[in-house]
Amino acid sequence: MLDSIASTRGTSAPAEDGSTDFDLSGLLVVASVLGLATTFVFWAALVPLLPTAWQSALDALEIRRLPWVALNPLGYLGFAVAFALEWWIPADPRQRIASRGLLQDLGWAALNALWKIVFLTAYVVALRAFIRAHLSFLMIESAASWPPAVRFAVAVLIDDFVGWGNHWLRHKVPALWALHAVHHSQRELNLLSDLRNHPFEQVIKETVHLTVFVLFGAPLTLSVAYPLVRSSFTRFYHANVRTNLGWLRYVLVTPQSHRVHHSVLPEHRDTNFATTFSIWDRLFGTVCRDVDVYPPTGVDDPRFPHEQDQPARELPHSFVAQLVYPFVVWAGLLRQRRPAPR
Ligand SMILES: [Zn+2]
Ligand SMILES: [Zn+2]
Repeated sequence: MLDSIASTRGTSAPAEDGSTDFDLSGLLVVASVLGLATTFVFWAALVPLLPTAWQSALDALEIRRLPWVALNPLGYLGFAVAFALEWWIPADPRQRIASRGLLQDLGWAALNALWKIVFLTAYVVALRAFIRAHLSFLMIESAASWPPAVRFAVAVLIDDFVGWGNHWLRHKVPALWALHAVHHSQRELNLLSDLRNHPFEQVIKETVHLTVFVLFGAPLTLSVAYPLVRSSFTRFYHANVRTNLGWLRYVLVTPQSHRVHHSVLPEHRDTNFATTFSIWDRLFGTVCRDVDVYPPTGVDDPRFPHEQDQPARELPHSFVAQLVYPFVVWAGLLRQRRPAPR
């Protein structure tokens, strides 16, 4: 499978005569392992800060303002609209609304919420304190004089661009793809599939997102609230809905374009990376020009424990297997670097 990742995700294959040409896959493996090791050390360094961070999170005025975000009326409206559209104009008419995939994604949504409560919230506060204390030289000083709305709008745009690059990397670096593959594995895309994320991938995404917002001096409330509000949109474009939104597709990600991003077909691989604004894919040539196809989705690794391959009563089992999947791939990556036995 690692070979398949390496060969299908933009790396060079060995020469036919067996000689070792420049092998980018090896470089990517080493970079991935080093990157992950650094990340784990960084997380470990933040752990002692977490209890204090929890206290500041509870004390901070900004956090006390957040209950309205938890209620997020837009989120509930998004649910209702997406359900109606899945019934009215399904991308895959054979897929039931209460599919096995939706049930599995409900499990991922619960894990996501739990992860936010026990770790991510305190992590975000600790990270913000860490950046302000040790990386303040990176802060965009001139942004301080801008009106808060402009600061926020610029941060949203930069965050979206950085999110595009971060998404591109999660496809190209094998160790990161092992995490991101969990999100891509849904064969029955539905309005909860945006919550199908491995907890470690969540930490990477939050780190990148928050860093951008902190560097621009955006208020914490907005930094935390923005992704929650945006989640209504990501919920919508993951739903089983047949629309490319007409001319809006030139600006925004659509259910059609994101379905192509999740496509299991080789011709769609590594296209449409954008998460909110589709402009980045047009600028960097990663847009898929076919705007009328609604391909099958999932990942092509035969080892991936898709819930659709198991009886419904095995859902908890496939859920745990999906959670463990990145570790299986990482173990394979490390084995790949060992010399072949004689
Ligand atoms: Zn992706
Ligand atoms: Zn997605």
